[in-house]
Amino acid sequence: MDQIARTLSLPETPREFGFFIDGEWRHGRELAEQRSPAHGVPVTRVARCTTDDLNDAVAAARRAFEDRSWAGISGGERAGVLLRAAEILRRRRDEVAYWEVLENGKPIAQARAEIEGCIACFETAAGAARLLHGDSFNSLGDGLFGMVLREPIGVVGLITPWNFPFLILCERVPFILASGCTMVVKPSEVTSATTLILAEILTEVGLPKGVYNVVTGPGRSVGQAMAEHADIDMLSFTGSTGMGRSCVHAAADSNFKKLGLELGGKNPIIVFADSDLEDAADAAAFGISFNTGQCCVSSSRLIVEASVADEFERLLVEKMARIRIGDPLDEATQVGAITTEAQNRTILDYIAKGRDEGARLLTGGEVLEIGAGRFIAPTLFSGVRRDMAIARDEIFGPVLSSFRFETVDEAIAIANDTVYGLAASLWTKDLDKALVVTRRVSAGRFWVNTIMAGGPEMPLGGFKQSGWGREAGVYGVEEYTQIKSVHVEIGKRKHWIG
Ligand code: NAD
Repeated sequence: MDQIARTLSLPETPREFGFFIDGEWRHGRELAEQRSPAHGVPVTRVARCTTDDLNDAVAAARRAFEDRSWAGISGGERAGVLLRAAEILRRRRDEVAYWEVLENGKPIAQARAEIEGCIACFETAAGAARLLHGDSFNSLGDGLFGMVLREPIGVVGLITPWNFPFLILCERVPFILASGCTMVVKPSEVTSATTLILAEILTEVGLPKGVYNVVTGPGRSVGQAMAEHADIDMLSFTGSTGMGRSCVHAAADSNFKKLGLELGGKNPIIVFADSDLEDAADAAAFGISFNTGQCCVSSSRLIVEASVADEFERLLVEKMARIRIGDPLDEATQVGAITTEAQNRTILDYIAKGRDEGARLLTGGEVLEIGAGRFIAPTLFSGVRRDMAIARDEIFGPVLSSFRFETVDEAIAIANDTVYGLAASLWTKDLDKALVVTRRVSAGRFWVNTIMAGGPEMPLGGFKQSGWGREAGVYGVEEYTQIKSVHVEIGKRKHWIG
């Protein structure tokens, strides 16, 4: 354990960060200050990069890609770098978790567990770097042999959100590195610290300069310029569906860069009467409160069989009231602060809309006065109609809307009544029912009798307006490659000109 993790006090002065291009730290002319969402004090100061900075970063990533210092080495050598990064991350786990808490407001115990997940991402990607391969066709006749090569796509732009700044980063960076690509990362302007700390770690393990570059600053300037950049070959964007749509337009209007999009969700948790109701209620409370509901895979629509709905809602209210909400630097805290003031207002507005539209508030709905932070009690609305705003929109906060169903078909119809298709959780002891519902509900990630389980071996991504492509696992590495079909003639050519 390092010094910071033992003391867990707030920093006396905000930590200042530069940005990282071509293996060098640069200083920003303008800095933006981030305050701890839970304590209200300034914790970091990060550069507002310009489009010139972005152009420098893309040029560095392009040089590093073309000089083959990364793409040209073996998968085994790339795996070595990734495994060394995992080791250093293990040593610096508590420090990275601490900065994640200070900028994001999530509980320290959760942040540490997330960094453990990040270490696993580096280890998994190391394995995938060695195993990445193409295909061959020995079936084209005696005169021709076919090979399918996988090549790194080139320079990747990576734009990440503020809800899981380091976890989302690490569900992508090691897999991009495993493919042989180089990259420019733009973290969310409110949570940039840990993305910059990763630059220190990757430098220490000997990643060639220019392979990992970080520019910081607002999405509407630097992010938009990345989406429009003609020398970025692929953009991996994680954030809201609205901004994802804007990236699609920007890609179409520039160089048709390939896009990976991980966007919003309005995820169902379907509870059948035959399930273990205690387990399901615990999962539902976790599914909506974890990370204060600021989670793309939060289960924000409870779809419960009518015969047990009253009993289930009672169980759930009792569990939600026992969640420990408070100072994220306290080891015992389960739910921390709302990350941004704008998000806080959005959540409170939706709670007011739910009341106005006639949904029944069963628990929560109020602001919690805890120090100088922004805290909202986990909230459950019952009797929600499918046309209400709290039924349709991604709130991105701890607000759960409850619906009832009588038949399997009705449960599936409610679950699919959304433009999103990111994740779903299903609770039943009946295997037939579990498989029928799993097949018919549109979601990129499915949990049966569990919720938010998994690891970096499993691909992540959404159906419908929740996105394009997959991250993590072998699928996640392949996403950053392009395929080349090679035809090799064997023997003398049969001449066309007689
Ligand atoms: P956001 O879309 O506001 O911002 C995400 C990132 O995009 C930030 O880095 C931001 O600076 C940048 N950005 C903003 N405007 C941009 C523009 N015009 N062009 C390019 N980049 C721009 O999202 P957020 O508020 O940071 O995160 C919350 C949203 O992200 C939610 O909708 C949530 O569901 C989604 N999300 C999805 C996943 C997933 O894996 N599907 C994971 C986490 C978050």
